[in-house]
Amino acid sequence: MRDWAAPPEPLPYPVVDNHTHLDMDGTDVTARTPSERLDEAAAVGVTRAVQIGCDLDGAEWTAQAIRSDSRLVGGVALHPNEAPLHVDGTHPSGLDYEHAFARIAQLARGERMRAVGETGLDYFRSEPPAHAAQQRSFRDHIALAKELGLVLQIHDRDAHADVLDILARDGAPERTVFHCFSGDAAMARECVERGYFLSFAGTVTFTNASGLREALAATPLDRLLVETDAPFLTPHPQRGRVNSPAQVAATTRVMADVLDVDLERLCRALDATSESLYGPW
Ligand SMILES: [Zn+2]
Repeated sequence: MRDWAAPPEPLPYPVVDNHTHLDMDGTDVTARTPSERLDEAAAVGVTRAVQIGCDLDGAEWTAQAIRSDSRLVGGVALHPNEAPLHVDGTHPSGLDYEHAFARIAQLARGERMRAVGETGLDYFRSEPPAHAAQQRSFRDHIALAKELGLVLQIHDRDAHADVLDILARDGAPERTVFHCFSGDAAMARECVERGYFLSFAGTVTFTNASGLREALAATPLDRLLVETDAPFLTPHPQRGRVNSPAQVAATTRVMADVLDVDLERLCRALDATSESLYGPW
């Protein structure tokens, strides 16, 4: 049985977990309800979260959860590693891509839905035959975010050039966020120039992540977000334990060090950016 990461020191000002999966808690973890995880987060200053449902079950779960917990708003999409299964007919649900995407589009119209995501390209966990399906799905999600006026949350793994290219060709939504930003400083500058927002996860705290910390240092305060991507990517030094929204406090502290800014000033900036992107909740 794996353990949850221990709660970090509290933040001086409340911040939002920009990207979390409360619907995923694994089977090898001691039971802790989403509401308990949010209570623990609130106790260390992480008072709100954007819940991301990125397959059909997760999206349905998200639509329910954001209605019953005022600390949450939601985002839904078919994850880039999920969409190709619907396209090639191997998804366990048996649902084809058109029907699966139509259900996502319907849920995205729901109350308290504020984002389309996570969508994008993942060339790390897929073979070239799946790339065309990922690109098709990414473009459909871009169009959906624009149609509904929602934030686009992008998943980009080992696919920087194609992600940037598709965004440029199709036209990015007005509010576009790179979730778990993984590029270098040059890519961060490119994203900033284009008006995008960069959300940093626990990966920025990893000992071997100096390139990512350079990217963070190249990003202006008013373009930054922080997230857990829980239950994945637990920040250093608790890697190996299970992540939850409270760990935003640990990542935010490291970010303040890297940026050499006062922790409270960073928290206020993160909070203001979250509100400007998603609106009040
Ligand atoms: Zn995620």
